[in-house]
Amino acid sequence: MKQASIAVKDPRVPTFNPAHQVPLVAASSFVFDTLEQGIDIFDGVEKGHIYGRFGNPTVDAAADKIAALENHGLKGEAYGLFCSSGMAAIATVLTGLCQPGQVILTQADLYGGSSALIDNMATRGIRRITADLRDIEGVEDILADQPEVSVIYVETPSNPTLRCIDLMVLANLAHHYEARLVVDNTFATPIAQQPLRHGADVVLHSTTKYLNGHGTGVAGAIVCRDRELLENTFVPIHRLYGGTGNPWDAWLVLNGLKTLSLRMERHSENAQRVAEYLYRHPRVREVNYPGLPDHPDCSTVGKQMTLNGGMLSFELDGGLEDAKRFMNRLKFCTLTPTLGDVDTLVLHPATMSHRSIDRETRLAHGITDGLVRLSIGIEAVEDILVDLEQALD
Ligand SMILES: *Cc1c(COP(=O)(O)O)cnc(C)c1O
Repeated sequence: MKQASIAVKDPRVPTFNPAHQVPLVAASSFVFDTLEQGIDIFDGVEKGHIYGRFGNPTVDAAADKIAALENHGLKGEAYGLFCSSGMAAIATVLTGLCQPGQVILTQADLYGGSSALIDNMATRGIRRITADLRDIEGVEDILADQPEVSVIYVETPSNPTLRCIDLMVLANLAHHYEARLVVDNTFATPIAQQPLRHGADVVLHSTTKYLNGHGTGVAGAIVCRDRELLENTFVPIHRLYGGTGNPWDAWLVLNGLKTLSLRMERHSENAQRVAEYLYRHPRVREVNYPGLPDHPDCSTVGKQMTLNGGMLSFELDGGLEDAKRFMNRLKFCTLTPTLGDVDTLVLHPATMSHRSIDRETRLAHGITDGLVRLSIGIEAVEDILVDLEQALD
């Protein structure tokens, strides 16, 4: 039987004048006009895309924009890599910066996945030292005593207790002892805090949270100012371990970034109102929010944060039973294990995000059974307050 000819090639999309918005380029590879051009692009002599795991116009646009936001107002360039998740970004950086025999100095109140990953690096001979990174003398003693420390790994504000750590002091100490300061800036976003401004070497994001902002995708990013470190250390790991982000998630993040500063202003404004309301409530024992005047690290907040952010936590008087009752009664706020969305989200750290930490350590870091974490959204603040009021009643 004779086969019908179907040799019709896909047309090239014409690019006479560009689309107003960054196009979503859903392609796994890119076309070379000639073998010579292909070789030049592979060699880096000519700019161009090769293969989706190495880069893609949409993915690169998201990486460049996040880097530009983190570097905003600073002299010199910053470079970004867009990753398949926040964890992929963290794993790429720690794999690149830590060799067997070296040490990661970090805090106890970390994102659960980051904490588990750092613990897991023990299987590769990389040790963890946990300390209160707000205790500068304590940190200096550790660094002086342990020249194997290659990375100081920081989250500020911390999760879920919103403690704040002085980035400039830590960056100076890290550099004096030839270590690098790596900062997870997921909670603050570059709108509220720019770790590069205070001397951080690498900034990480779970873009799943505020940068996307709408709860529609999982992705992450790495930003640094040292081009050699990025190209020679992070890029090979990123490509070979396959942690590249995909164009769809990058496109969603690009959309989210357009409103990031507006959203962060509203998140902060709403969170301030909620924090003040909870602070005065007779059934609330303690409120953790960087915008409260009696926050234990308020001088650090003033030095490095331009907005106080949308995250807060508070402790109910009656422990687990009270926390349960409160969360089950909420109607407007949503019980879900993420943060940074436009809607107000609630989570119970002791049984959810921080469940893998043993009880004693958990309690020592203020993660009690009565502690509730709120990610305040951008709704009308009255709607949030009415819901909290009826649930606390
Ligand atoms: C969610 C989160 C991560 C992990 O990011 P994924 O995108 O879930 O992989 C890391 N750090 C912080 C602070 C987070 O909130």
